[in-house]
Amino acid sequence: MDLSRIRIVLVATSHPGNIGATARAMKNMGLKSLFLVRPKDYPSGVALGRAASALDILDNAKVVDSLDEAIADCGLVIGTSARSRSIPWPMVDPEECGEKLVVASSNNEVALVFGREDRGLSNEELQLCHHHVQIPANEEYPSLNVAAAVMVLCYEIRKAFLKANALVKTQSSEREPTISEIIGNSMDEIWDQPMATVKDMEGYLEHLEKVLVRLDFHDPDNPRQLMPRLRRLFTRIRPDTMEINILRGILTSTEYQLDKKQENSDS
Ligand code: SAH
Repeated sequence: MDLSRIRIVLVATSHPGNIGATARAMKNMGLKSLFLVRPKDYPSGVALGRAASALDILDNAKVVDSLDEAIADCGLVIGTSARSRSIPWPMVDPEECGEKLVVASSNNEVALVFGREDRGLSNEELQLCHHHVQIPANEEYPSLNVAAAVMVLCYEIRKAFLKANALVKTQSSEREPTISEIIGNSMDEIWDQPMATVKDMEGYLEHLEKVLVRLDFHDPDNPRQLMPRLRRLFTRIRPDTMEINILRGILTSTEYQLDKKQENSDS
């Protein structure tokens, strides 16, 4: 087991020093994969200085244009937030966050996403995530420096990883224990199919919206909270790849029937 399928994503970071400090925290905790979404000032000597001996993490960091792009292939995404947001989302505490990421990374690419220094993540960005995690800091001043938040949550990942590895070594050798047995919870992370990726889910939700408009169930001019609520429903359920294909198939059949009905009424 290693931590190579767990990526840290920084969204629109303003201060390059925070990017360097993130790289250092990641390397200290054994993480390797860093994605930078539209960093404000990067590459930068300041980032290199703060990274100290974690230059390899910066060398291999991927700079991308959008959060969607950074997490498209991920089967589990956890977003971080210093405060509660308008639509409540499934929350995990930092320890569960580490455990879920370690367990899910055995058969999925997974991501932990951090926001801007001044405004955090937008609601839209947070709604791309399966869970949110909040470090329970001082209510009078709960907002950590972003690289400090990276450190705290990467340490939780490290703890889950060390716990899993220590237990693997002490298990009897009759059979390989599953990772969820080892960690003792996060049972839902082990599945016979890989989880649908963010890209699969976005494709499904786009298709669903199109069909709901055709069915006159959804009025784009008066959308209310329909699509965010459906997004939360499906994100909470986290369909696997087989299930999302079935759901897409149902939409395609619905469209086919609607086309046929229209053809009949046109002729
Ligand atoms: N004023 C912003 C704070 C952003 S802090 C806001 O209210 O959202 C910058 C980033 O650091 C956040 O987007 C998050 O990724 C991380 N962070 C800071 N404090 C945190 C906390 N208590 N729990 C989880 N993440 C935190």
